[in-house]
Amino acid sequence: MADTRTLFQKIADGDIPSDMVYEDEQCFAFRDIAPQAPVHVLIVPRKPIPELNDLTEADEQLVGHLVTVARKLAAREGLAAGYRTVFNCGPAAGQTVDHIHLHLLGGRSLGWPPG
Ligand code: AMP
Repeated sequence: MADTRTLFQKIADGDIPSDMVYEDEQCFAFRDIAPQAPVHVLIVPRKPIPELNDLTEADEQLVGHLVTVARKLAAREGLAAGYRTVFNCGPAAGQTVDHIHLHLLGGRSLGWPPG
């Protein structure tokens, strides 16, 4: 049978190695393999929603939970000076993995507007 899991589901299952920093029943978080800042963590729902455009009202609690986890991880990672959270949606925004994920970036000064 074809393996229909997303890259991030394979990471959650331990079939692709990762530096996992957080797990609960709704989501998991691991360090980005190509960090764009000293702290770069991806927070991913266990539910494999492909992109933000696929969200429904039923996902509102889940998305709020991802943001709450980002806030907790930012504190744990010592990002008291500030941090950025980003959902890329679609190719023009640079989304490369079709399983929504919240980037948590910090540990350096982050320019605005982003590229
Ligand atoms: P996006 O471009 O918003 O879809 O983000 C996907 C992110 O996943 C990128 O920042 C990649 O560096 C990251 N990534 C891809 N493969 C892995 C992996 N095996 N482990 C950790 N991060 C990964």
